[in-house]
Amino acid sequence: MFITDLSDLSFMVVQGYTNLSVKTDRMDEIRRIFDSLDTEYEALAPFAADALESAVYKLDFLLEYLPHITFSGLGKNGMALFDAKSDELVRVFVKGKKLHCSVHKEKPCDHKIFAAFHHKFAC
Ligand SMILES: [Zn+2]
Repeated sequence: MFITDLSDLSFMVVQGYTNLSVKTDRMDEIRRIFDSLDTEYEALAPFAADALESAVYKLDFLLEYLPHITFSGLGKNGMALFDAKSDELVRVFVKGKKLHCSVHKEKPCDHKIFAAFHHKFAC
């Protein structure tokens, strides 16, 4: 069947919703982890919408309140970031059951806040 009229595509999207595209192998892994969790969510889609919205607000917070810190890369159990105030590369990672900073160790610091709020941080 050939689609000759774009109005024929309307059946592919539920009215009032988007169809965000995610690679199937990545989505399969996310769904596998999500399905193994005991959450208040009955389906992945509403969780994904809430998580995306939260990530955008957190990113906005980071850009406004911690503009001197930028994401540098992912590493084992955490991430690397660059602090322009101290001009140094900092690692934030999970060690045991605690978040650990390569500069401030277990003390509270902006690096840990940045990592915890950053959408790429995973452990
Ligand atoms: Zn720190």
